[in-house]
Amino acid sequence: MLRMPRFEVSCPESLPEALALLAESELDTRVMAGGTDLLVALKNRLEVPQRVVSLARVGGLDHVTEQEGSLAIGARVTLAQLGASDLVRRLAPALGEAARSVASPQVRQVATIGGNALLSTRCRYYNQSHFWRKALGFCLKKDGTLCHVVEGGKKCVAAASGDTAPALLTLGARVTLESQHGVRALPLLDLYRNDGIANTVLRPDELLTELVVPAQRPGHRGAYEKLRVREAIDYPLLGVAVRLDVDPDSAVVTDVDVVLTALQAKPRRVARIDSLIVGVPIHGEAFEAAAAQLGLRARDQCHPVANVPGDPEYRRKLVPVLVRRALLRAAGAA
Ligand SMILES: Cc1cc2nc3c(=O)[nH]c(=O)nc-3n(C[C@H](O)[C@H](O)[C@H](O)COP(=O)(O)OP(=O)(O)OC[C@H]3O[C@@H](n4cnc5c(N)ncnc54)[C@H](O)[C@@H]3O)c2cc1C
Ligand code: SF4
Repeated sequence: MLRMPRFEVSCPESLPEALALLAESELDTRVMAGGTDLLVALKNRLEVPQRVVSLARVGGLDHVTEQEGSLAIGARVTLAQLGASDLVRRLAPALGEAARSVASPQVRQVATIGGNALLSTRCRYYNQSHFWRKALGFCLKKDGTLCHVVEGGKKCVAAASGDTAPALLTLGARVTLESQHGVRALPLLDLYRNDGIANTVLRPDELLTELVVPAQRPGHRGAYEKLRVREAIDYPLLGVAVRLDVDPDSAVVTDVDVVLTALQAKPRRVARIDSLIVGVPIHGEAFEAAAAQLGLRARDQCHPVANVPGDPEYRRKLVPVLVRRALLRAAGAA
């Protein structure tokens, strides 16, 4: 049996109370929302805090509201709520698909969007029990001095593994971070760092309180595709989110965005793709050819390493397959 380390638990009843607890720097503190990732990390001694601050009783973080096409989502909204929301289905379909693809229905009942956006990077040599990691000599991410993925590597290359981040990135989402020192709002892309050990810029005294998805253009479409070992419950071995903007009158693509995850510590936006697909009508062979070309361009920009299960070369070969599939589905052509 895996036992948790000893720690204090605080259950603040309001946001100011929670922020006050986080501002006390004497105790090494972790925030718990749904706990579906944190509790496993505690049991595996990946996290050994002195105190856990639970958000369970903090009100005001569980809204999904629309204002002029823009979506505001409280950090404590569960993935089950997001996945079932008609607003999300209508205004941000890729986000709904990504939320529904996380883990299992039971996990999604408690797992939150805030916890998903802030999920720590994952690695086959790190997300293991203490006993297992000790036998291997630990690694850079915790307690060790070397990397088992990149021989001689000095930087952790564990993989961004939250499913909703790539979808939110294609939608241009912003996040609100609050502390006793004030509020900062930043584009979601700026929340992330390409560092497997510290993959976000969130400070220990800050809470993520809200995500905002701006109003999308008329004719907006989106989709999320995911490669995983077990369809019913697993983390992504590769995740692909796409956004297609389509002129409602001519049905021609006016803009595109493709973001990949589970490759490196930060989700990756595929570059130089507009010229391949903008101006192409979404119905017909030209679109299929453009989607295939775009998939190949994405593949050329990806170099998976053996950080998560699954052969890296196989994951790379699946990049064009998933990109094409997501584009065709978004276009309604699949
Ligand atoms: C069996 C299983 C399968 C899983 N499969 C997937 C999967 O397929 N895809 C996937 O993306 N995830 C998966 N997960 C991981 C996890 O369930 C989700 O990522 C979930 O959304 C995490 O949310 P949570 O509220 O439970 O986060 P928690 O575990 O409570 O927290 C996660 C991290 O975020 C921090 N945090 C949470 N909320 C806030 C906040 N508001 N402000 C500041 N910090 C905060 C915590 O301190 C912690 O570091 C799986 C987990 C399990 C157990
Ligand atoms: S990428 Fe290397 S340093 Fe990072 S968790 Fe994996 S083995 Fe550890």
